[in-house]
Amino acid sequence: MRPFKCRTVEGEPVITYFKPNGIPAKLLEEIILTVDELEAVRLGDFEGLYQEDAAGKMGISRQTFGNIITSAHKKIADCIVNGKALKIEGGMVEMKRRFLCSGCKNEWEESFGTGRPAECPKCGSKKFQRANKGRGECGGRGRRSGCSK
Ligand SMILES: [Zn+2]
Repeated sequence: MRPFKCRTVEGEPVITYFKPNGIPAKLLEEIILTVDELEAVRLGDFEGLYQEDAAGKMGISRQTFGNIITSAHKKIADCIVNGKALKIEGGMVEMKRRFLCSGCKNEWEESFGTGRPAECPKCGSKKFQRANKGRGECGGRGRRSGCSK
């Protein structure tokens, strides 16, 4: 079996939730668009890259890229056509944020798109900080330069 290969993404999603105007979120069906699907849409549709180039940027095969972007299109279409909410989170990507608790020294990881955690999952302390600068940090929002890696 081939080892699973993570998809590389260049940045943290800017917006992680979209919903139809005027309808309470609790009444809406929610579709989860993963961060790798969003990245595929960004590279393939927004930046207009050829699938081969976009796949290369994400470190995956062209066929895998094709599968991801097809799935993304279907989800986005479902939201627009049927009026569903779209939540962007998770996905098999390399971006992870590490946090370090200054109380119990617990270190843990959170995926991008989940928001800043409210407290240390181990001791409940609210005093914690980012333990690393993940890939998603180096470019910043709307700024692609500045990555030193
Ligand atoms: Zn703690």
